[in-house]
Amino acid sequence: MDEKKRDRLIEAALDAAERAVAPYSGLHIGAAFETSDGQVIAGANVESASYGLTCCAERVALFKALTDGHRDFTAIALVSPTDPVFKPCGACRQLLAEYAPNAVVWCKSSTVDSPAEEYRLNELLPAALVSLPGSE
Ligand code: ZN
Repeated sequence: MDEKKRDRLIEAALDAAERAVAPYSGLHIGAAFETSDGQVIAGANVESASYGLTCCAERVALFKALTDGHRDFTAIALVSPTDPVFKPCGACRQLLAEYAPNAVVWCKSSTVDSPAEEYRLNELLPAALVSLPGSE
């Protein structure tokens, strides 16, 4: 995976994080997906006063991409203002395993100058449920 591609995707995630709606946590998280034809779709976390309704940046970006018709993803960047960096939560891992199983996942701090961490979905969520029996 080339560094230019990774850095471009991280930049898109950083840009999206600036538009996070995080009045409660103050944590501005950004995510960006790269499609197999090189398009980038990004999103940020959206929080609710009813905390359980909060949606992570990865899911916002994924839902945007899916509802724009994209189905094939090669890479995902996730940026968080934390050290250590956030990795996708369990709910996001499920959706990423279903809809972006082959994507490389880069997690990068937006506040600490440390290298991006690289993961694969099969290590983030081994033995994932990726379809319902009889649905294919
Ligand atoms: Zn999540």
